[in-house]
Amino acid sequence: MSQFWSKKAKEAKPYVPGEQPAETDVIKLNTNENPYPPSPMTLEAMHRAINSDLRRYPSPTVTELKNIIAAREKVAPSNVFVGNGSDEVLAFAFQAFFEPNKPIKFPETTYSFYPVYANLYDIPFQKVPLNTDFSIDVENLYDSVGGVIFPNPNAPTGLALRLGAIERILQQNTNQVVIVDEAYVEFGAETAVKLTELYPNLLVTRTLSKSHALAGIRLGYAIGNEVLIEGLERIKNSFNSYTINRVSLAGAEAAFKDEVYYSTTINQVKQTREWTSEALRSLNFEVIDSTANFLFVKPNMNAKFLYESLKERGIYVRYFNESKIDGYIRISIGTDAEMEQLVEQIKRIISS
Ligand code: PMP
Repeated sequence: MSQFWSKKAKEAKPYVPGEQPAETDVIKLNTNENPYPPSPMTLEAMHRAINSDLRRYPSPTVTELKNIIAAREKVAPSNVFVGNGSDEVLAFAFQAFFEPNKPIKFPETTYSFYPVYANLYDIPFQKVPLNTDFSIDVENLYDSVGGVIFPNPNAPTGLALRLGAIERILQQNTNQVVIVDEAYVEFGAETAVKLTELYPNLLVTRTLSKSHALAGIRLGYAIGNEVLIEGLERIKNSFNSYTINRVSLAGAEAAFKDEVYYSTTINQVKQTREWTSEALRSLNFEVIDSTANFLFVKPNMNAKFLYESLKERGIYVRYFNESKIDGYIRISIGTDAEMEQLVEQIKRIISS
């Protein structure tokens, strides 16, 4: 262990991201990226930004993008916060709203960044096991001491809570912040944004990484009461007030103006998801009904073996080395051709 590391660096338990293979000829179904490219309008706007004023700092207030998001979400610009991917928005939210000595709650099987942030900022946490059908145990998220966070739909299960359940969580945690992480909401769940008007303790986070095929530009945002947004701005401006670069800003602004393109690709992903679910079920795989751009699947064979066999064949899926979900893999939805290849290769593995 390096003598130069701080106590924090020594004790850190960093997040292990999904594999990003260097080869380009693989089928990558392991990190829930969108299989389609960003729209031509989005790419043109980013090229224009590269060719214009990169010598200047970007806007520290992100005013134009906030106005666009506010109009789209039917809230005021003061209800919008913008960050480098929702990961950064979440990291700021943990610092702005959660504290040491006040345990927060989140589902036991969920986005594995939450315990990483909690450890980093010395926030104690309690993991709430999922119900046996993998749904979130809503009642056990009541009465947290320090706050609540969960994705909707949850990852890696793809299951979503209805707004009524989210409202009950909010009503049972009125003195704490409840964060609903909507990274995948566009693929079939109901957004909780409209509840932010009624519940000042609700923060909803979103990303362009999945629905808008822009994981590479790192653009996420949050919607909430203006007091929550101000809390996030205080943390952001203490860390890096020029947080969003000019090229990402241009891409995000253009993407929001090109919704016809993105809703078409989202619908395509949803159709492919249904096709893949059926194909895997017909191979006797257990497939949980998903409202996200991935499937949580129990194969009719050892999950780790399937993950490794697919990898040998150039297909990357996600296997979690966690005891509660040991028998499962998560498969991101790719193009039709990629999913046909996946099913074909699984058939060959079964018969080999
Ligand atoms: N929340 C959840 C549940 C996720 O799965 C992810 C993506 N790994 C994120 C947030 C972060 O996405 P991004 O930082 O790309 O916006």
